[in-house]
Amino acid sequence: MQNSIPWDNHRAYYAVRGMVLTGFEKEVLEEVSKERCWEHVKWFAGEGEKLSGTPANERSVDYILDTLRGLGVAAEAPRFQAWLGFPRIHDAEVKVLEPEERALECITLAQCASASAEGGLVYVGGGGLKDYEGVNARNMIVLADFSKPPARPWKNYVAGVLKGAAGLIVISHAGPMRALNRGTVKSVWGNPIPENLGDVGRIPAAGVTREGGEYLRRLLEAGPVRVRVSAGGLRGFYGVRQPMARVEGREPAFVLLGSHMDAWASAASCNALGCASTLEAARLMTRFRPKLSRGLQLLWFQGHETGIMSGSTWYLDTYWDDVNANCVAYLNNDTTSMIHSTVYSVDGDPALRGFLVSTVKELAEEEGASFREPRPMYVPSKTGDQSFLGVGVPSVRVQMGHPPEADKLIGGGGGWWYHSEYDTLDKCDPEAMYMAEKAQTLVLLRLLTLPVLPYRVEAVADWTLWALGELDEAAKETLSLESLREKAEVFKERAAALDEATGDLAERCKKSAKGHEEEVEAANGCMVRVSRVLNPVNYTLRGRYDQDYYGAEYVQPIPALKGVADLAALNPDAEEYKALRTRLVRARNMASDALGEAAWLCEYAAEKIGG
Ligand SMILES: [Zn+2]
Repeated sequence: MQNSIPWDNHRAYYAVRGMVLTGFEKEVLEEVSKERCWEHVKWFAGEGEKLSGTPANERSVDYILDTLRGLGVAAEAPRFQAWLGFPRIHDAEVKVLEPEERALECITLAQCASASAEGGLVYVGGGGLKDYEGVNARNMIVLADFSKPPARPWKNYVAGVLKGAAGLIVISHAGPMRALNRGTVKSVWGNPIPENLGDVGRIPAAGVTREGGEYLRRLLEAGPVRVRVSAGGLRGFYGVRQPMARVEGREPAFVLLGSHMDAWASAASCNALGCASTLEAARLMTRFRPKLSRGLQLLWFQGHETGIMSGSTWYLDTYWDDVNANCVAYLNNDTTSMIHSTVYSVDGDPALRGFLVSTVKELAEEEGASFREPRPMYVPSKTGDQSFLGVGVPSVRVQMGHPPEADKLIGGGGGWWYHSEYDTLDKCDPEAMYMAEKAQTLVLLRLLTLPVLPYRVEAVADWTLWALGELDEAAKETLSLESLREKAEVFKERAAALDEATGDLAERCKKSAKGHEEEVEAANGCMVRVSRVLNPVNYTLRGRYDQDYYGAEYVQPIPALKGVADLAALNPDAEEYKALRTRLVRARNMASDALGEAAWLCEYAAEKIGG
């Protein structure tokens, strides 16, 4: 498989056009307050568990609103109906029945069915689709490892919906303490709709400690094991208040900054850090508001933990027209700076990746800190409030990462303490948070002030060509993607011309943006629309108006075409082959339309931009 993308071209492009910290940017960075950040972190962590709708969560809503109003930012917390789960967390039972009787320490995983199930135990590793090869899990109790992918809600969907298992047991992360990593197993993203209400947790699901999980695995190695799993709680629609505010810019365009405010257990690294960081961003951008061309929309999401992305999805659905017309980038602010995090790291949509790398690298160099390049290939993950992939808002992430030598100290994803009573203030580092806040501030500031958006559309074309190349190879000539690749080449050519034109325009605007208003409007409007047209095709299976399932491992680059690999494995005379081919031809047409429109937009805008 080919896996090289010419990112280096884009890096080189930025090295030539590279920006340097301006006096104004330095002034804003100096205003970032480590003390204020940490005060907020302490406050949120002090409230402990704050599941949506609970008193601690309500107090946090008021704290956010009061802080914002104190800054002079008009804030509100509209109430909406969110599908939430309230697990009876300590009421779960995991009991070995055979070959010996033993009850294990365990917790209920939220959104599972309220039920009890008995059956033979089967271990499935991470519990992804591939892990079931040669395994019949029907009516069995599935044992899966939380430290291995895919995400936990997807493990549950595979076990309960796709594989017909009777119950699920998830082994917590390994760590120095016996942590039980709380969390949700609902894979339906946001509020359910009639078509997927039945896919919300069908089976009882419980978490056990690492020690408990290892004991179960040892038993399994010796022979058949029979277990009982019981778990449950309330689930359904509940009213909840979600804080939001906008620091207005001169234009209707805005950047979205969101952090989930509902949180499990001691709730320090996840997500006192993010909530505090978003408050500090509100303060900074309010202070420098007269300089902002674009606005900053601030959100503290509800229903992230017990609902699964209810708040971000509700915001998108409710404010669709505004997001669609005006939102130019999205930053998700979650667990940005846990302990041992000393490395600046960024990731995001190819359109903004060159900008992100050059901006944060510049800061790292200025501070003599280390910087980690993003993975060469962008694959948008279906996790963490990434509810804006379908509408086509480029998503970026700025945070502090840890060096490889800290892997052991941190443990599994989110730290061994993830969603447990051990996620206390000592898992957060004020210095790391200060660094993350500065990096994020600089990225935000540029996105809010640069007259010409720092998108590089050719990088999107390169990504698309790479994805098509992979798919073409997987199709093994059962479905030609040649016409798509040709269209993508045309798009790349026009995107490169547009990038050249917008780059020149940005240079001219450095002297003065006056007199270039129409060109800037054409450039920015086009770049945003290319994302609106291509991102839903490139990154989602369910398209613009729906959401893919949480943790969905079936979603890969240009997911609607992913079936070409299955096609190549089928008998061309089979009905199944012919039916799948029909669907894939339609998917090809969808991608073709998007590429054609993107190329047209680039050409149109490049013509509008003079020289
Ligand atoms: Zn979190």
